[in-house]
This record gives sequence, C-alpha cells and structure tokens, in this order.
Amino acid sequence: EELRSRAVPPARHLIDGTSRDASDGATLDVISPIDGSTLTTIPKGTREDAQLAIRSARRAFDDGRWSDVAPAARKKIMLKWADLVEAEADELAVLGVRDNGTEIGMAYKAEPLSAAGTIRYFAEAIDKIYGEIAPTAPGALGLIHKQPVGVVGAIVPWNFPLMIGSWKLGPALAAGCTVVLKPAETASLTLIRLAELALEAGLPPGVLSVVTGEGIVVGAEIAESQDVDALVFTGSGATGRRLLEASARSNLKRVYLELGGKSPNIVFADAPDLAEAAKVSAAGIFRNSGQVCVAGSRLLVQREIHDKFVDLLVANAEAMQVGDPLDPRTQAGAVNSENQLAQNLQFVEEARTAGRTINTGGTRILHDTGGTYMAPTVITGVNPDDRVVCQEVFGPVLTVQVFDTEEEAVALANATEFGLAAGVWTSNLSRAHRMISKIKAGVVHVNTYGGADITVPLGGVKQSGNGHDKSLHAFDKYLDLKTAWIKL
Ligand code: ADP
Repeated sequence: EELRSRAVPPARHLIDGTSRDASDGATLDVISPIDGSTLTTIPKGTREDAQLAIRSARRAFDDGRWSDVAPAARKKIMLKWADLVEAEADELAVLGVRDNGTEIGMAYKAEPLSAAGTIRYFAEAIDKIYGEIAPTAPGALGLIHKQPVGVVGAIVPWNFPLMIGSWKLGPALAAGCTVVLKPAETASLTLIRLAELALEAGLPPGVLSVVTGEGIVVGAEIAESQDVDALVFTGSGATGRRLLEASARSNLKRVYLELGGKSPNIVFADAPDLAEAAKVSAAGIFRNSGQVCVAGSRLLVQREIHDKFVDLLVANAEAMQVGDPLDPRTQAGAVNSENQLAQNLQFVEEARTAGRTINTGGTRILHDTGGTYMAPTVITGVNPDDRVVCQEVFGPVLTVQVFDTEEEAVALANATEFGLAAGVWTSNLSRAHRMISKIKAGVVHVNTYGGADITVPLGGVKQSGNGHDKSLHAFDKYLDLKTAWIKL
C-alpha cells in the first residue's frame, strides 16, 4: 500500500557511474497506465548524452577495468548484484507495475525475481567458460580463445523491462563486455534502478550506463555509433530493420534481434485435457493483456472440437480478472499506453467491419480510476489474410482458425512471416515430435504454453529475429572466437 502511492523522484540517466539529467535538461513525462496519472519524469536523452555513455563504455572496455578482472572476482560482484535486486524485489515490482501496467502477480516473478535469477545464472558461468584446443595435424597448435565482443548497445522494450534487460545484461557483462542500455520510453524506471544496484554491488563505473529517451534519438545514436561493437535488441520488426540499416551504414556492428511473433497455438482433438488446454491457452494470450512477445495469439483448433473449445476459451476469457495491476488477484493488468490501446481496438474494428465474429471482448474497459484496460477478445470466422491474423497485435486479442488434418495445421501454423513460438496440444507422442520438427519457430511448447525457464534458449526464426537470449547459448552474442595458430 505504501509502495503504491510513494512519490517517485524524477529519474536521471546513469552515465559513467554518475546520475545525470539530459544535456539540455529536457524531460519526458512518465504516465502510469493504471490511472493515467503522471508518475514522474525521465530525461529526454540527447545524442550527446548517448555519445557520452558510449565513450565511457568504450574507455571502460579498452582499459580492461572489467574484462581484465579475475573471473572469480567478477562473479562475486554479479552475485552480489543479484542479491541486491532480490532484496529490493517488492520495491522494484511495484515501481515497474506503476510504470508499465503489468499485473503484479506476473510482474513480481517475471521481473525482479527473474532478473535476479538471470544475473545469478550468468554470474555462475563466468568461471566456467573454457577456450578450446583444435585437433590440428602434428607440428601445429590451434588455440581457440573466447573474447568479449566489446561495447554492447542494448535496446529493450516496455513489456518486461527487467526480465528482458537482464537477458541482455547478464551474459554481456558476464562475458566481460561493457554496455550502454536504452530502455523504452514507457518503462525506464526499474532499469535505472537495476543499473544503480550494479554500481552498488561493485561494477566499475562506465561498465554499464543507462540513457533514457526516444528511440529515434538515443536508440538511433547507439545504432549508428562507430564505437559500439554489437547491438542487441528486443522490439518491433520496423525498428529491427532500422538497426540493421544503421549497422550497414556505420561500422557493420553485429545486430541481434528478438522481434515480434504471431505464434500459433494448435489444439488437436486428442489433447490430453481440453479444459486445461483452454485455461492455459487463455493465459498464454491474455496475461499481461497480450503484451508478451511469445503470446499464443493464433489459435488453431481441430474441427471436431472447435465449437466446444471456443466455448471453453470464451468462458476463460470472460472469467479473467482485468483491472488494477497492483491488486494481486488481477490476471490481466493495464494496456501500456493510450496509443497501444487504440491500435488494439483498431484491429478489432477492422475484423468487425469485415464481418468476423467477436465472440467476446473487443472493447475498452472503463474504470472510475481511469487507466487503459481492454477486455480479453476472441475472434472467430477469420480469413488467413486478415490483418488481425497476419500482424502482431500485442494486445489481448486471439483469433481462431479451424483445421482438419495435421498437414493443414502445419501449413496454417507456418503461414506467417514470423517464427517465434508455438504450442501443440496432443496425446499422440509421434505427432508431437512431427509437429516440433515441422513448425518453424524458436520454441515449441507441448501440452502447455509459455513458462520456459532460463536454462533454454529463446530466439526467433524468419522475421522474428536471430540470435538467442537465455541459456549458455546467449554467450554466442557476446563472445568472439579468436584463433591462435602456433608452429611447434
Ligand atoms: P514496441 O512496439 O515494443 O514499442 P519499438 O521497436 O518501437 O517496439 O521499441 C523498442 C525499443 O526500441 C524502445 O526502447 C524504443 O525506444 C527503441 N526504438 C524505437 N525506434 C528506434 C530507432 N529508430 N532506433 C533505435 N531504437 C529505437
């Protein structure tokens, strides 16, 4: 209760270990989606602010103040950081919810606790990264060293800032890189605090800087910089393309993108438990009001169970508690912004106009307290080329398509430019494995949806991106191979 109404002081960049305002003093208002009130301000960063942070990260990398520290000592600092994050989990969770609107039940686990877990996971790996000796012919010794790529620019979105931020920061810092982090305009507050805690834990100044502000200014400066060696990004496909272009125009920095999805969730008539499948599938699209990159937003249902399953799903959708994200009973909190809500409703209006059936939802939910809320929405009778079927809504909107055969399910599942996630519900083991191998996606959930932990990689294929967050494979983005060829 006290945390909920606590005044939030104006936020500041964290650059080279120092809190700073924008070089011209400009700020952006932070609007809480809970009630539309102004929570505080963040610096509206300038290109100079970004340059300052990049220069400090360059210096911090080149002088070895982090990468040359003994692995065991770096590990100790990162483990302490994880402890500090965990100790502040309540404050961070509530601050994050006030900033971005995710329901607290999900935010608490997915944000501070997951960030602490991620940092700890990668910290533990620091002194377990070995180089290799190549199986060369006699007379030569081939050594393969793993070296940090250098300065990393990390640009992250607003839906899960701490979770996604730590997916980048954990392995980047563990690898010995230095990082300039650019949070989203509508979710910067917790990431600034995360970086302050890193400093408190002993991370040397300049190793991690946070610059807030607009993507087209701060983000673009990072993307175009000659001094940034790798860009890691989670966000929209449109921005991803701009980052690749910026890399091509500047220094060919490595670009790793985790972009959108339109993930199929496929329910066969032989699913082990239809009631459970409907419950988990509803959560898989409606939690955090659909603002989840891996959300199962396209339901594909086998014809013989279609009507029954849609009924179950609609019942689950209508039973969802949508509202005050700080109420622990809430299952779907606020939509992040008025802008996002307007886009969601536009998708529904188009479907309605085209004669599709809105089985439930499709409307804004008005609360006395204001804020941006939307009813979980199920749309049936859609066509494969409807915009709502092809494009990522990033809201609580589920479309339902019917199929007869397994082949048809695969074809429908893959009829998308995206390839992030998928779900398959069946009790036929062979069919499950056939689907896993045929579906073009980075992750296939079987008889569940979502919830994959830190030990497995997350990344997209096709236009959902490249490279992986999470698991030891995440190091591939942050460690370069260097060969030493020695004549014996
Ligand atoms: P979303 O639709 O999730 O908001 P965006 O791609 O717009 O996705 O935003 C994700 C992140 O990318 C945010 O931090 C945003 O500020 C940043 N961003 C947006 N446009 C650009 C750009 N042109 N260059 C660099 N970063 C950008």
